Amino acid sequence: MRIDLHTHSSRSDGTDTPAELVEVAKDAGLDVLALTDHDTTAGWDEAFTAAGRLGVTVVPGAEISCRLGRIRIHLLAYGFDRAEPEFGRERNLLRDDRERRAELIVQRCQELGAPITWERVREIAGSAAIGRPHVASALVEAGVVATVDAAFSSDWLADNGRAYVTKYALDPFRALELVHSSGGVAVVAHPAAGSRGWILTDDQIGELARAGLRGIEADHVNHDAAARERIRGLAAELGLVPTGSSDYHGSRKTVRIGENTTDPAAYEELFDGMPWVTQRPPHSEASRGV
Ligand code: AMP
Ligand code: FE
Ligand code: FE
Ligand code: ZN
Repeated sequence: MRIDLHTHSSRSDGTDTPAELVEVAKDAGLDVLALTDHDTTAGWDEAFTAAGRLGVTVVPGAEISCRLGRIRIHLLAYGFDRAEPEFGRERNLLRDDRERRAELIVQRCQELGAPITWERVREIAGSAAIGRPHVASALVEAGVVATVDAAFSSDWLADNGRAYVTKYALDPFRALELVHSSGGVAVVAHPAAGSRGWILTDDQIGELARAGLRGIEADHVNHDAAARERIRGLAAELGLVPTGSSDYHGSRKTVRIGENTTDPAAYEELFDGMPWVTQRPPHSEASRGV
């Protein structure tokens, strides 16, 4: 069984529609794909429909923006009830603030001499929860930088770069409460990806584990061999399930879908007691309880 538990569609900063994403997963030989768009569940229905057609299991999820002091944390939430109002309200706030902040980032870019417009960036984002990668695409289109990666230099969009603006993010302990009260489980994403900001300490991961965190992403494109080993050791010590995933974003990143995968035993353990999350298609929305 090949399992990829972290991917993005065009409902956030990926480039494939949810249906295309499931097709790409099928072509790559994946049996299980989690859809984890940033701060939104808007792609779930389309992904479920494609999953039923193609015989791929889609795990519904979202990657929730959190912040602990100066550390930006991404929490992968899976199998939660998207109709639960409190968590739903927070996802709305997160998306609304992404709009405010993206417009400010575009203003900063303009002040720095980049010939991009808010209208064009909004158009590139379409129905997505907007983010820096959409601004990055506009910068590439305008010839300011050669690639999306280059747009994430300190000259432009990098964390604390010249055009960087902070956005609303949840306290991770509050986010864990919201995920749990909505019936889901949480895994901390790329905790040792240094290029994305501050790295979580072992103590902080321990505190999250005591607050009910169920898993930790070990195999990720931004983790080197030493980081992966450190995380696997920590997972064993803390009783966390180690996962692996691609963090696929379509053509906005070079990573391939299924480049890192989760062990089937880890997958079973992660969703133990949540059979509706892992059931084989065809499935209906109602039977998933989401
Ligand atoms: P935002 O959620 O708007 O703060 O944007 C963060 C997103 O930008 C991440 O989810 C990645 O998809 C992308 N990103 C962050 N750092 C880089 C980078 N160095 N190169 C390319 N994409 C990046
Ligand atoms: Fe992203
Ligand atoms: Fe992330
Ligand atoms: Zn991601």
